[in-house]
Amino acid sequence: MFNIKHLKSFSKSYSQKTVPLVYERLLQKFGPQHWWPGETRFEVIVGAILTQNTNWGNVQKAIVQLKKNRVLTPLGMKAVSERRLSTLIKPSGYFNVKAKRLKNFIQFLFKDYDGDMNKMAKQPWTVLRLELLNVNGIGPETADSILLYVFDKPVFVVDAYTKRIFSRLGLVKKDVEYPVLQELFTRNLTSAVAMFNEYHALLVRLGKEHCRPRPRCFRCPLDQICCKIL
Ligand code: SF4
Repeated sequence: MFNIKHLKSFSKSYSQKTVPLVYERLLQKFGPQHWWPGETRFEVIVGAILTQNTNWGNVQKAIVQLKKNRVLTPLGMKAVSERRLSTLIKPSGYFNVKAKRLKNFIQFLFKDYDGDMNKMAKQPWTVLRLELLNVNGIGPETADSILLYVFDKPVFVVDAYTKRIFSRLGLVKKDVEYPVLQELFTRNLTSAVAMFNEYHALLVRLGKEHCRPRPRCFRCPLDQICCKIL
């Protein structure tokens, strides 16, 4: 007889198979994504803060401005005024809010780590995650992006694309909470940092090209395994 216990064990084994399978299919279709673009650790952190609520093209324009004006270093950003910083990052949108967030991060970096990214890298990641979340304007997605893409820590990054794709696949509810969705990956993937890095980037690619608000399922690499729950 089918009961809720069977449903739970079915969905558990379904997740175990599907989470790695999605990765394989995406990698086969799109190939490695070479994330995260950035010449220095600091540049990646700045990019992770600037990319909130905007597309990467706009972030790149802001990064170019910061580089040109020698502000893309911890000391450079500490020295520049918040007002000037907001002007420089204008292309990334929400520039006043983001200038404040960058300054908040700088304050934390100098107060707790003497402005030294190497010192920060030595902190156990579970502690660093809590510290980052304590910085005003850094939420779980930004904190986890910093941990994974800057410090190579085994933390899966969840974003709106991840939520949309995995709810349509039928593995989670549309309103799934961040830690629950994150756990789906950490529980069902055997390898960590390199795969987490690639997997998130591939999901972003899928979300942009196929699993958009109005899905383009034709030629989507997940077409045959997707429940298409819209
Ligand atoms: S098949 Fe359609 S709904 Fe499913 S992941 Fe692909 S684009 Fe999204």
